[in-house]
Amino acid sequence: MTPLPPGSTIGILGGGQLGRMMAVAAAQLGYRCHIYAPEQESVAAEVSAAFTCAGYDDLTALEAFAKSCDIITYEFENVPAPPLKKIIGKAALRPGVAPLEISQDRAAEKKFAETHGGKAAAFALVKNFNQLAAAIEQVGTPAIAKTVRMGYDGKGQARIRRASNLEHIWHDLGRQPLVVEALVEFDAEFSVILVRGADGEIRYWDSARNNHEGGILTQSTVPAGPLVESQIAKARILASKIAEALDYVGVMTCEFFASKAGPVFNEMAPRVHNSGHWTIEGAVTSQFENHIRAICGLPLGDTSVTAERVEMHNLIGTGTPEMAKLLSDSAAHVHIYGKGQAKPGRKMGHVTRLYR
Ligand code: AMP
Repeated sequence: MTPLPPGSTIGILGGGQLGRMMAVAAAQLGYRCHIYAPEQESVAAEVSAAFTCAGYDDLTALEAFAKSCDIITYEFENVPAPPLKKIIGKAALRPGVAPLEISQDRAAEKKFAETHGGKAAAFALVKNFNQLAAAIEQVGTPAIAKTVRMGYDGKGQARIRRASNLEHIWHDLGRQPLVVEALVEFDAEFSVILVRGADGEIRYWDSARNNHEGGILTQSTVPAGPLVESQIAKARILASKIAEALDYVGVMTCEFFASKAGPVFNEMAPRVHNSGHWTIEGAVTSQFENHIRAICGLPLGDTSVTAERVEMHNLIGTGTPEMAKLLSDSAAHVHIYGKGQAKPGRKMGHVTRLYR
């Protein structure tokens, strides 16, 4: 592929903080970004050259958007696939539609990972309420029920114990298809973030050890420690097989549980990821810049770590950040996403600290 020259327009589907950080990285390389999102308030649009505010199923708006872009990417994996398929041809979509379709369906992504040699938690698919009890019987308790579609940051999930009221769980999760997963006994959680170039070259960042509270990522730390490090090679092999099978171009993330029996695949995200925010200052080339380089057909940048230890903390649900206090720590790099209203569980920013 001939690299896209500076001045070209990159379309980004999704208007949140991932798009914002992608757009900042794109601007540094001389590209213009055009954000497409259904919400009026878009923190990505605020730092971009153009904004289309329209629904993901609005074909007229999508077509006009595609015509104005030289390449299109996404920062949100729940963009519906069928309308996107209709606009491919007006501008290339990188990564493609297949990674979206697979990652939008928790059962499909686990099966896909297993097909490529990965190990996922035992699970059963539940299409209606009548199948729930049998699925729990099959998987055992404790278990986790997750909506097959549209879950994120711990939303659309419920823990199941032997005494749980199944009608309440079915109702609380919105009476929709679920996967019931065995609860994995893990020692740590980690992610493999890779970038695959247009020529097929793959590079990895160091894996961070990830801490979650209530299903939301709170902290990522590099190095991840010996326990996780002993499982990274195997996890990378699976992630690279997935990327190759999809002829993936751009940044892709796979999340794993480090268990006594080795890495257990949890889920994939066909995009830059919160557990890679540390790479902005903590790696020679960030996940955002390398995603832009990959989709534009440019050489990939060095993914090496730049410090002995890197810690990324999310600012979750906090009101106006105390900037002076945060910045009084000279190791801290503060990122505020510019979202209007702080709500419980909402990611408002993050702080990365480098220790040399
Ligand atoms: P997810 O949305 O699948 O990434 O789940 C959010 C978080 O819930 C994970 O990062 C884990 O901390 C926890 N979790 C999800 N699935 C499981 C599982 N099968 N076993 C143990 N913990 C889980």
